Amino acid sequence: MIDNNVFRDVSYGLYIISTKYNGKNVGCVINTLSQVTSENPVVSFSINKNNYTNEAIKNSKKFAVSIISEKTKKEVITKFGYNSSRDTDKFENCTYQEINEIPVVTDGMCSYLICELIQTVDCSTHDIFIAKVLDAQKISNEKEMTYRYYHEVIKAVAPKNAPTYIENEKIDNKAKIAKSKENEQESSEAFEKYKCIICGYIYDEAVEKVKFKDLAADWKCPICGTGKENFVKV
Ligand code: FE
Repeated sequence: MIDNNVFRDVSYGLYIISTKYNGKNVGCVINTLSQVTSENPVVSFSINKNNYTNEAIKNSKKFAVSIISEKTKKEVITKFGYNSSRDTDKFENCTYQEINEIPVVTDGMCSYLICELIQTVDCSTHDIFIAKVLDAQKISNEKEMTYRYYHEVIKAVAPKNAPTYIENEKIDNKAKIAKSKENEQESSEAFEKYKCIICGYIYDEAVEKVKFKDLAADWKCPICGTGKENFVKV
C-alpha cells in the first residue's frame, strides 16, 4: 500500500525551465531538479510527456533553469505552472534576459543555469532529462523556494501534470467546495470574494463589479485557466 503523504517528506524546490522553440519562448515550472554530479556538473529532472516544454527541450537541446525564490511573485509561478506554452505567451509581463538565444526568466529568481541536454529516459507518464550545466550564475541572495513553502505559505496545489501531483488534494478541495456552496445559500447581496483552488487567484466582486454567480458558465480563471467549479468563497 502506498501512503501518498510519504512523498510530502521528500523535499523539492521550484524551478522554471525555458527555451526557444519554433521561434517562440517556451517554459514551464518543474520541481524535480537535482544535481547528479559536481565535477563537470550534470543535473536531472522530469517533465510530463504532455507538456509542450518537454517537446521543446527535446528539439532545442539547450535551455535555462531559473531557480525560484521566496520573493518570486505568485503570478510568475502560476503563469508558468498552470498554462501551456502551446497557446500562452508566458513571458509577457515577466522579466527575462536572452542569454545565448535562450530566454532566461530572472523575475525574482535566486539564480539560473544554462544547460545542454545529454539524454532523456522514458519513464511512463514523464521523461527524465539529464543535462550538462554550461553556465551557472547568481541573480540575487533571496532564499530558494521549497515545495513545502509553496504548499504551506503560497497555499497552491500541484497541477495535474506535476510528478508530485496527489489526487487527495482534489478530494480535500471537493469538501471545501461543498462547504462553499452551503455558505453561498446563506449569503446576502454583499460583494464576495472567490478563490481559485488551483492557483489561488482571488476574484473580487467589488473590483470586477460582476457577481461571481453571474459570470458565464464557460468563464475561466485569468491566471490558470480553470473553470468556475474550482472556485471557493473566501
Ligand atoms: Fe486559477
